[in-house]
Amino acid sequence: MTTDHTAVRIAAPEGIAAPALRDQFGRSIEYLRISVTDRCNFRCVYCMPLEGLDWLPKSDILSYEEIADVVRQLAPLGLRRLRITGGEPTIRPQLDTLIGMLKAVPGVDDIALSTNGVKLPAMASLLAGAGLDRVNLSADSLRPDRIKAIARRDLGFDPVAALKAAVAAGLDPVKFNVVVMRGINDDEIGDFARLTLEHAVHVRFIELMPVGEMAGLTWDHVVPSDEVLSRASETIGALDPSDGPRLGNGPATYYRAAGAPGTIGVITPMSHTYCGTCNRVRLTADGRLRTCLYGDHEVNLRDPLRAGASLVPLFVQALANKPKEHQLLQMQVGGLKALSQVGG
Ligand code: SAM
Ligand code: SF4
Repeated sequence: MTTDHTAVRIAAPEGIAAPALRDQFGRSIEYLRISVTDRCNFRCVYCMPLEGLDWLPKSDILSYEEIADVVRQLAPLGLRRLRITGGEPTIRPQLDTLIGMLKAVPGVDDIALSTNGVKLPAMASLLAGAGLDRVNLSADSLRPDRIKAIARRDLGFDPVAALKAAVAAGLDPVKFNVVVMRGINDDEIGDFARLTLEHAVHVRFIELMPVGEMAGLTWDHVVPSDEVLSRASETIGALDPSDGPRLGNGPATYYRAAGAPGTIGVITPMSHTYCGTCNRVRLTADGRLRTCLYGDHEVNLRDPLRAGASLVPLFVQALANKPKEHQLLQMQVGGLKALSQVGG
């Protein structure tokens, strides 16, 4: 493990966001994904076992004040964009309070939410009012019986109602995340693609990743993104490369059908890795900083935070050790049992 502190801290003039730190491979790190809970009201087949996981004790989970403190300490190092995730973040009470606290941190200019969307119709306006900028909704099917089968809970989730609530609340952009599984929901690729002709929604098809027990899913269920794109264009016509949504410098590659208000994106952790442009790190619900979604590269920030120590040297060192790429194709995911443990 290298301890070469190649990450450099540069002070920015007041009122101007600090330039982001770079890791040892020159990647600029400006994006923090914050998991606020490891629990969820769904049990998606590819994510969480039916019986749940060994939940974190409440005392291990960072309070909202502690999360805000982490962000206050790290924003001067160039973190500008935050995503609230989980587990399912909307089941943690008073999420709007956290969003308001984070929005008030100097340097933070964008806050996004990843959610399964169940509670979005009831919460979208409240969250937008607190400072939420945009939302990613996980929606693997548009059919109620199938949503129930994939989520293994019947909570009446209606993806299009959630989309409309998000748009009405002024959240922009609104993205759909669709995990494509052969023989389970791949026959809906065209239906999702058609949504982009009617709504300003960015539908992102994600390749299934082999993490955790996955309820019997195997490599045979993975649908490569090239196939997804060709099947989408069979329904809505030729797809041209597109810039995608504002602030779309994440892992997706975007396309648009002629005249469509929305776009289609593909996220390809399996068939084409995007580690070379990775701009993110993750904070788990119990305060561990993970510099890669997979593997065991993590640093405990919670205990130093609770002891009153500065997190800056730990963050700088963690970035210096951020791995070059994941080892998913070699099936190396470290101790990870489900993406819900690290926020996806
Ligand atoms: N509960 C929220 C949600 O579902 O959006 C946020 C957390 S969830 C872990 C974040 C993302 O990870 C979701 O879009 C979900 O579809 C994705 N995900 C979870 N397990 C996955 C897997 N095995 N393969 C691909 N994507 C996965
Ligand atoms: Fe919950 Fe999201 Fe995992 Fe589904 S993908 S079980 S909604 S955390």
